[in-house]
Amino acid sequence: MTTIQSQIKFSGGMEMNSTPPVDGVVADPSTAASEMPEPDVHVVTSSGILIPAHSKILASASAALENMINRPQKRRSSERRIPILGVPDDAVSVFIEFLYSYRCGEEQLKKYGIHLLALSHVYMVPQLKQRCTRALAEQLTIDNVVDVLQLARLCDAPNLHLKCMKLLSSNFKALEETEGWKFLQNHDPFLELEILQFIDESDLRKRRTRRRREEQSLYVVLSEAMDCLVHICSEGCTSVGPHDMDPSKEKVPCSKFSTCHGLQLLIKHFGSCKKRVKGGCLRCKRMWQLFRLHSSICDQFDGCKVPLCRQFKLKELQDRRESDELWRLLVRKVALAKAMLSLPKRKREEEPRIVVDYQELRSFKI
Ligand SMILES: [Zn+2]
Ligand SMILES: [Zn+2]
Ligand SMILES: [Zn+2]
Repeated sequence: MTTIQSQIKFSGGMEMNSTPPVDGVVADPSTAASEMPEPDVHVVTSSGILIPAHSKILASASAALENMINRPQKRRSSERRIPILGVPDDAVSVFIEFLYSYRCGEEQLKKYGIHLLALSHVYMVPQLKQRCTRALAEQLTIDNVVDVLQLARLCDAPNLHLKCMKLLSSNFKALEETEGWKFLQNHDPFLELEILQFIDESDLRKRRTRRRREEQSLYVVLSEAMDCLVHICSEGCTSVGPHDMDPSKEKVPCSKFSTCHGLQLLIKHFGSCKKRVKGGCLRCKRMWQLFRLHSSICDQFDGCKVPLCRQFKLKELQDRRESDELWRLLVRKVALAKAMLSLPKRKREEEPRIVVDYQELRSFKI
């Protein structure tokens, strides 16, 4: 007796000295036969093949097999049999081989992945279960996904289940044409419902993520506008600058020119508009909000050259309690975006610049 597969007995009593037809599994002749005691159990497959094995090894690798082995026998018999049914014989052989060696070839996983997942779940062999779920996830196709999903559900394999759901929801059109889906519609309406719900929710998740990304880009735009506002009011830029500085001296457009330029136009307008904020001018209102936002994140009480900064700060102190929640949230988000932007970032210069879309600022309501 060299390996567990060197001696196969058929149920009819015939005995064969050969290796069962398992691709990739080679009986290892180097296994020291003298070190191995005689097999004391036989695993019985669906077609009646007996695979000799060692109860101690099976029990130490699988809690479920340990229970079966330790269960008192109904009749005293010198030969113990453990049935492992419902899967092809070769899959049982690969399974037993794994219990001995904790090894399993890729080819076997590819061929018997579904069966091995079921066996590893039923017989509680987590190491094999992990390998099977990973292998099955890699082999997922639109044609096998429904079967694998059902199995993942039965075998309590949440990662595989999620992978199946994601594949299903992103290929739903193609899925509807498959036999697996048609079968499922007729036989498992609950699973069908679960899949349809998942698709609905993932659409919702995508929309939510898009909205969050849009919001984030608005905070980044506002944070850049805040930098430009300080830069225009303290150093001056192409066409607007502090009264004690000649803006025309600055000939070269600054690095944030598109934001800066838009802001300069807005400041110029704010300085000359007849309607102003009270008159309902939207551009002035936007400028007013930008001044207020600056004041909320500016940490200089005196000495800040941005118009209205000090006034807004004093007002904020007066009606702190009334200051509305939404505004404070906006201030926090912009301050956060500003902090993120100030972090050193590789390839910052190569990234496309954010172009201020004043449409966006216009839609920003407080
Ligand atoms: Zn500038
Ligand atoms: Zn105006
Ligand atoms: Zn300020």
